[in-house]
Amino acid sequence: SEQPTIALVTGANKGIGRGVAAQLAALGVTVLIGARDARRGEEAAAALGGDVHAVTLDVTDPATVERAARQVEERFGRLDVLVNNAGITGSGQVDPQDAHDQIPSSVDLDMVRAVFETNVFGVIAVTNAMLPLLRRSSAPRIVNVSSHAASLTLTSDPDGPFAALLPSAAYSPSKTALCALTVQYANELRKDGILVNAVAPGFVDTDSNNHTGFLTVAQGAAVVVRLATLGADGPTGGFFAEDGPVPW
Ligand code: NDP
Repeated sequence: SEQPTIALVTGANKGIGRGVAAQLAALGVTVLIGARDARRGEEAAAALGGDVHAVTLDVTDPATVERAARQVEERFGRLDVLVNNAGITGSGQVDPQDAHDQIPSSVDLDMVRAVFETNVFGVIAVTNAMLPLLRRSSAPRIVNVSSHAASLTLTSDPDGPFAALLPSAAYSPSKTALCALTVQYANELRKDGILVNAVAPGFVDTDSNNHTGFLTVAQGAAVVVRLATLGADGPTGGFFAEDGPVPW
């Protein structure tokens, strides 16, 4: 009989990551819920049902990243799918709906650093720790959860819908960097059959936007799951939303 697919989703104790975990589990995938808080991870795993396990993993803490990789190796011996979903906006220390703290000319550089630490450097740390395990998979896939706000094409169009958004020196550039990394990893790993893609889930109702998003978590998770379960002929080095490719 066929072996189950093993998937790790970072930041999966709530929000889009949790939705991805639920949908993968429903497909029969063995899902590892990455959570920086062990209790929140265990609670999510218990609530989801299916073959779901919690793994303590703070993407900004190399010790937990290494420990998580060792745990996956000891328990499963390999990894098939890595979803780099954990992310922060950096906004809202005072008011979760206030994004004025992203404005370039007045942004707090420590906030920019924290956002890049999680959204960019954390992805490199987790990906590199998990790559030896992904190389043991017969169908390895990496999905990086980016955003339409990453798109230079969309955000640089003064007549486009994104011109109405507040300028962002932290979140938006961090996701642009994540898209750039996606292309570079895809280029390195193409010869190894590891498909690496970025996705934009759309504006999803989660804590990260104080529940102002208009898509459900399930709707936002769908494109992530689609790229996480690509066939061997699937794309690599691409950027996709539910309705199709997103321009870089
Ligand atoms: P949530 O705030 O609901 O969830 C974020 C998750 O990431 C939480 O589980 C959080 O853990 C975790 N996390 C944050 N920092 C770390 C860390 N250092 N290590 C491990 N986990 C961490 O946000 P969303 O579900 O909305 O966001 C998920 C992803 O989707 C993010 O990358 C976000 O940028 C992206 N996205 C979201 C959009 C939206 O409209 N919601 C739009 C476009 C992209 P904890 O519970 O401990 O805080």
